[in-house]
Amino acid sequence: MKKIAFFCIPAHGHTNPMLPVAAELVRRRNVVRFYSFGEFEEKIKATGAEFISCDSFLPELTEQEEAGLKNVSTTEMTVQDIRITLSMNEFLDQEFKSFQPDVVYTDSVCFWGKLNAWKHHVPMVVSTSTFAFNQMSSEYMKNTPKEMADMIFGLPRVSRELKKLEPYGFHVKSVFSLVQSDNSTDSIVYTSRMFQPYAESFSDHYAFVGPSVFSNILPEKEKERPLIYISMGTVINDRSDFYSKCIEALKNLNVEVIISCGNAINIEELGALPDNIQVYPYVDQLDVLAKADAFITHCGMNSVSESLYMAAPMVLYPQTSEQHAVARRVTEIGAGIMLKEDSSEGIRTAIQEILNNKAYRDAAAECSADFRACSGTAGAAEFIENAPHSSDGIDIIGELNKSMVRFQILYWLVVIIAINLIGFLVSWKYVWIIGISASILSSPIGKAVQKRKYKSLIRKYYP
Ligand code: UDP
Repeated sequence: MKKIAFFCIPAHGHTNPMLPVAAELVRRRNVVRFYSFGEFEEKIKATGAEFISCDSFLPELTEQEEAGLKNVSTTEMTVQDIRITLSMNEFLDQEFKSFQPDVVYTDSVCFWGKLNAWKHHVPMVVSTSTFAFNQMSSEYMKNTPKEMADMIFGLPRVSRELKKLEPYGFHVKSVFSLVQSDNSTDSIVYTSRMFQPYAESFSDHYAFVGPSVFSNILPEKEKERPLIYISMGTVINDRSDFYSKCIEALKNLNVEVIISCGNAINIEELGALPDNIQVYPYVDQLDVLAKADAFITHCGMNSVSESLYMAAPMVLYPQTSEQHAVARRVTEIGAGIMLKEDSSEGIRTAIQEILNNKAYRDAAAECSADFRACSGTAGAAEFIENAPHSSDGIDIIGELNKSMVRFQILYWLVVIIAINLIGFLVSWKYVWIIGISASILSSPIGKAVQKRKYKSLIRKYYP
């Protein structure tokens, strides 16, 4: 029996996958204390874990901060994460003293869970509700100019907030060290090695346990006419414009449609609904997906995983860079298509393509079988119980970093030699052009070399 402290940020997409793991750990007679927030109280208590409310530590938000969070601004989320960590400091010092957890199981972006595990020297396992992102797999995350601007202009604010952590015994090198997946931290990822991009780059400290789902039901697609399910997730779902276009697109097709629109919009805004379309604020998504023949999704990691688990092919409508990464992987395995145009016509064409082409169904069914063969919540529970883990396996990223350091030294040596040669033999007047060109080219060249080196390491270790 172990005492396990769970920590998560107040978000459904991050909390949901941790719930079946909590239930399994409780079933195996561990004591689970889940530090979370009022809106999840019922669900957490249903797992048998003890619910500890952290609502009083949530800061009062200005209108601007609230808007930033709503738009999934990385800067705003980071700043609020740090503020909550600071306001919980005294409370969690007391909790760690009195509860004395054997293991901390914390969401990957829940700073107060991670920082307190480090500070109190408790073995930590990280719950990764998206793909695991390292320097290779983050290639899938193409930040939009807006996201880039948010990150760059937010840096001074984030580093000011990070400095505030130091006096409380939280030593943080950079915000990246807090959020990026590294090969020495025990981590659970709710997907399979097959679906994870660049899976070979992750060490034995990673357990790819497959989607964490509460349901034992199997996909059951037999019915009179196809079922289309539509959801934009639980965070940015006030998209009545999009739901209206879906209704327009699908009202005259011989299909049933279920739309989950969230609580932020009033269903009446959508007007009189055609007979074949039903709209709800929230549905039992797994139940619906088990019967669905196509899912129009915003590509949240949980929604996509659940869809593949239930063998439902998808029309992909990602909104953030993280969702784009997930969407790209779905297209790579052939289980969905991108929504090229979010007009009624575009939606109808995409749905018809999915329904009329068996290849998408087959790819989704194959992925469903792969997910169901993973170790699941039992594997996750065992991994947590046995933390910390040692790993003497291959660390591809470690090897890659060493050879990239060698490459950088060589690159700049060549540049310095070139500058001197041109300076001495031609003229010193123009050497600045070589310096600036070399600096500009170092990033794309470095990336290309890294990719080639990675491929050769994979050939070496996985011939
Ligand atoms: N969900 C649900 N019913 C709904 C809408 C969403 O149960 O009507 C659940 C869904 O099953 C998933 C989570 O909410 O587990 C959404 O997580 P995801 O990562 O897909 O998106 P997010 O809400 O974080 O953007």
